[in-house]
Amino acid sequence: MTQPIDCPLLTPFDGSFDLSSVPTSPPSDAPGKKECKELLAKEVEKLDDLQRVLYAKDHHSILCVFQAMDAAGKDSTIRAVFKGVNPAGFQVHSFKRPSTKELDHDFLWRSAKALPERGRIGVFNRSYYEEVLVVKVHPGILDSQKLPDRLGLDELFQNRYESIRDHEKHLARNGVVILKFWLNVSRDEQARRFLSRLDDPRKNWKFEPGDVKERGYWDKYMDAYEGAIQETSREHAPWYAVPADDKSYMRWQVARVLRKTLEQLDLAYPEVDPAEREQFDGFHKQLSAELE
Ligand code: ATP
Ligand code: MG
Repeated sequence: MTQPIDCPLLTPFDGSFDLSSVPTSPPSDAPGKKECKELLAKEVEKLDDLQRVLYAKDHHSILCVFQAMDAAGKDSTIRAVFKGVNPAGFQVHSFKRPSTKELDHDFLWRSAKALPERGRIGVFNRSYYEEVLVVKVHPGILDSQKLPDRLGLDELFQNRYESIRDHEKHLARNGVVILKFWLNVSRDEQARRFLSRLDDPRKNWKFEPGDVKERGYWDKYMDAYEGAIQETSREHAPWYAVPADDKSYMRWQVARVLRKTLEQLDLAYPEVDPAEREQFDGFHKQLSAELE
């Protein structure tokens, strides 16, 4: 199993995560925007190479979970970090409000179906974590979930954390390398980004009045994020709290954590069986002769 990348973004595994202690801006000694872009480009190149071997080896899959408040930059980070990878070995799944069919199953069902196959990288743009985030902020959503028992909210969410921990442990044991990124944008920066969606005609389409309403629940969301990270950050499924107010720094950090994790897998192209290799000479001669 891979080890979490030891960096300031990594959250603790003992339930002591304190959301007020994590910054939304890069540290003062962080590289500037231009340098972050150059560093990201290097990471993107390395990710391309690593993905090729991951695909050839075909033993592990990589699951990157992205959670964040609106306008934190999930979409653009996914686009920037994965722009070099081969689309054939890569898949993104965006989780919206569950459909009627999805509500007819347990809350992990729809994500289990969307998991990346061996050799592939999968991204969850939102995920089953919504079940302990938006649902915790708006418990009225539970009324549509057809749950068999009416549990108290505390017990219900503790049960969900437990289900998520068990699920992730099961996946990790079976070759899924799980990385979870919380893109931590500040409330002020979110307001600035909403304003630019209102001001810039090319961004108008991104503006959702509902997002402004949701922003009113900021503190409740932060409590829910803190609880989810406390309860589910584990060595085999770590949460990285990434400062999101500066997009260039955030994208570089996400790419760096992913690249370093992939490197730990010690990936190598599969070796051909010696008996099969012996036949290579014959094929070589035959094909060369055809070209003469
Ligand atoms: P963007 O706005 O950039 O397109 P998004 O991820 O915000 O991306 P939306 O369609 O705006 O996509 O929002 C999806 C909504 O679905 C979010 O408000 C999210 O909280 C909600 N959602 C996702 N999963 C669940 C769930 N299991 N239960 C209830 N709501 C959910
Ligand atoms: Mg949205």
